Amino acid sequence: MALLDNLLTLHRVDSQVRALSSRVDSAKTYFAAQERQLGLLEKQRDELATQLRQLKASVHALELDQTTATDRVTKLRSELNLATNDKQYKAILNEMKVLEGQKDDIVRRAVEEMQRVEESTKRGETHASTIVERQKIREVAKGKLAECLAEVGERLSELEAERTRAADLIPERDRKLFDKVADLTEGQTMAEVTIVDLRHREFACGECNIEVPFETFARLSSNSESVVQCKACARILFLAEANRGGEKAKPERSKSGAGKSDDAPTPRKRSASSKAPLTEEEQLLKDKAKFEKTRKL
Ligand SMILES: [Zn+2]
Repeated sequence: MALLDNLLTLHRVDSQVRALSSRVDSAKTYFAAQERQLGLLEKQRDELATQLRQLKASVHALELDQTTATDRVTKLRSELNLATNDKQYKAILNEMKVLEGQKDDIVRRAVEEMQRVEESTKRGETHASTIVERQKIREVAKGKLAECLAEVGERLSELEAERTRAADLIPERDRKLFDKVADLTEGQTMAEVTIVDLRHREFACGECNIEVPFETFARLSSNSESVVQCKACARILFLAEANRGGEKAKPERSKSGAGKSDDAPTPRKRSASSKAPLTEEEQLLKDKAKFEKTRKL
């Protein structure tokens, strides 16, 4: 097989290897992202739990304060009956008044803190169900990664062996160039030369659309051993089978045959064997060919 055909075979296998590897990479990335998110949620859960513990402790302390104040008020009430003079009586009454005020304040604060406990508990519950959902997603991601590794493990080693065989058919210099371009273009190493306008000798790189000179087209058309890179995107250029003239053909000949890439064989077959009347398109191609010949004279 010609060098360009071997390069195309290598390209086909190489892009399969790359696609599989990138499938594994994206499965790994996805799984890692799930792990990260879950880690973050677990950290938040711990923070919420600490917050809830603190709130509960604060409610408990307030309850204790309330009991202390109540006890003191009860004690003062009994002392009130034992008061011997007006001054003493007023002092006890005054303290009781202050304590009642403090008790009201304690109750108000306790109610607030208990509301916060309730809210925090609810948040904790919602958070816990979010974690359960995330854990499910993480398990799916883990399964997909394992599945991907199992599938790819087998197929990848097959493909890598195939890639080595394909690469062995290519001279070292060209192989190195292939690898360099493959890395540069993420595996989009080869680009077909497209015929923009055959009559005006306009050709383009099928990948980046930059103009390809006629000399390159002619060289590729007559010689499948030529490695030519696109000047813009560095990809290795090739011609579709239908546009290749073969070793024996002159570039002019392949040019005269076709207005479109897949039309090339038709006029030749016609002129050789068929006596059926030409279609309009074939007639046009024939005229074009004639014109090209005359133009060259
Ligand atoms: Zn290009």
